[in-house]
Amino acid sequence: MRLRNIPGSREAIASSEFVVHEDVMKEKRGCWNQVFGNDRPLYIEVGMGKGRFITELALQNPQNNYVGIEKYSSVLLRALEKRSALTDLDNLLFLRMDAEELPLVFGEGEVSGIYLNFSDPWPKDRHAKRRLPSREFLARYDQILKPDGKVEFKTDNRGLFDFALDQVKEAGWRLDACTFDLHHDAEMMRGNIMTEYEERFSSQGNPICKLIISR
Ligand code: SAM
Repeated sequence: MRLRNIPGSREAIASSEFVVHEDVMKEKRGCWNQVFGNDRPLYIEVGMGKGRFITELALQNPQNNYVGIEKYSSVLLRALEKRSALTDLDNLLFLRMDAEELPLVFGEGEVSGIYLNFSDPWPKDRHAKRRLPSREFLARYDQILKPDGKVEFKTDNRGLFDFALDQVKEAGWRLDACTFDLHHDAEMMRGNIMTEYEERFSSQGNPICKLIISR
């Protein structure tokens, strides 16, 4: 998702108390508990888009901390608008960054779980390593995830999902759960929170695939 540039989005992000800024985020590596002021488990969503999923997750789970990560200011601004209306919510922060830098921002084993939702497919083979479920990204997740941490991935793009399944196997991760039709899988659907893209594509009749992996 890349919205047209929204004038003022960089300034709005720069002045927000809910965004941890580029100049400080790397200093927080390994001490995100200090940023939140407590020792709750930390979960991140990579490529959160307009932020509906992680905002709802944070509202439903006050016992955890959440960080939503998005590359583009114009998209992050939309998430920030939602978040700014929820001033009592103390467990959700945002980062504007490229996920390639995750190991510079989070310490070894600092993250309890990672969510990838409707990640960009990057259809050209030469761009495969930019896909968020690629083995290059799995190696980054491996660095920051707790030993028992899990990665959850949802998409309606069957080609990207099949690619992810191959990468999981190649990288030696364990496939804990998998469905090719989430919305008709009662067990995996339990507690499901719809993302913006999930709502759009499932309403068009596209089946949603989901996997959960660990090492
Ligand atoms: N997760 C949302 C959903 O399901 O509605 C948005 C899906 S959208 C297709 C993918 C989002 O991931 C875009 O907003 C894009 O900017 C972001 N993204 C893609 N690659 C990224 C990266 N390397 N680092 C951070 N964000 C990224």
